[in-house]
Amino acid sequence: TKDIGRSEPDFVRSFEFENKLLPLTWVVVRIDGCHFHRFSDVHEFEKPNDEQALKLMNSCAVAVLEEFEDIQFAYGVSDEYSKIVSAIASLFTSTYVIKWGEFFPQKVLKYPPSFDGRAVCYPTYKILLDYLAWRQVDCHINNQYNTCFWMLVKSGKTKTQSQDYLKGTQAREKNELLSNQFGIEYNSLPLIFRMGSSVFRLKEAAAVENGVVSGKKLRLEGEVVVDHCNIIERCFWEEHPHILS
Ligand code: ATP
Ligand code: ATP
Ligand code: MG
Ligand code: MG
Ligand code: MG
Ligand code: MG
Ligand code: MG
Repeated sequence: TKDIGRSEPDFVRSFEFENKLLPLTWVVVRIDGCHFHRFSDVHEFEKPNDEQALKLMNSCAVAVLEEFEDIQFAYGVSDEYSKIVSAIASLFTSTYVIKWGEFFPQKVLKYPPSFDGRAVCYPTYKILLDYLAWRQVDCHINNQYNTCFWMLVKSGKTKTQSQDYLKGTQAREKNELLSNQFGIEYNSLPLIFRMGSSVFRLKEAAAVENGVVSGKKLRLEGEVVVDHCNIIERCFWEEHPHILS
């Protein structure tokens, strides 16, 4: 209007449209690093998998689960993290910044990282498990490709040559390439690279895998733990029934 008077508060507030999640559904909040292709370049992440960077991500997920008790489970690969029931990208980001020095004592954080988040509601736990299985399959496929790609690059091929070389190859051919040319048995690569990371609360005290080399460690009931388990197979969910109830 031509009126110079102020707008009514209700009118102004109406621009803040409510963005509610569907009730009675499984809510997944997916957190993904913004432009981490560049971020990992600038900070010279080990390719294809920088283990410290992955552990920093896991540590942020643990902090989020510890802060938000409604979150039951988190699964992460690369620069992304999926969380069930409410999660806050900003807590994840601030934890990432605060813990950077703990995981990279020799590297200065060169610019502020950010993460985007999106929420999706899944109506049944079956679809939820399909979603998580899809992420873990993706983790495996990407890791297998990236391991081949970076071995080719490190052996002297250009990125374009490596890409062309891998175009159209099947899983078996990729495993054979790794084994025959580079002496790498895909299945002996660290679980954290092949399986991604799952973060959840323990129902009861248990001995849990603690890092790649450090073996098992006793954890207390209710403690938030990181594991690199197969979440596609039903047995994980049957062994941890409290996560989905
Ligand atoms: P966007 O902002 O759209 O998410 P992006 O550059 O973050 O873009 P992604 O598809 O999310 O793209 O991919 C993340 C990229 O970050 C990967 O391609 C990989 O190069 C890099 N990256 C993330 N984590 C690691 C890690 N732990 N080790 C090595 N590289 C990593
Ligand atoms: P992606 O990571 O896949 O790009 P995104 O959330 O950035 O996901 P886009 O569709 O790329 O989604 O960008 C839309 C963005 O712009 C959203 O973050 C949304 O909040 C913002 N946006 C779009 N329209 C408006 C609007 N009218 N007012 C305020 N913000 C808006
Ligand atoms: Mg406010
Ligand atoms: Mg993104
Ligand atoms: Mg990203
Ligand atoms: Mg990503
Ligand atoms: Mg966008």
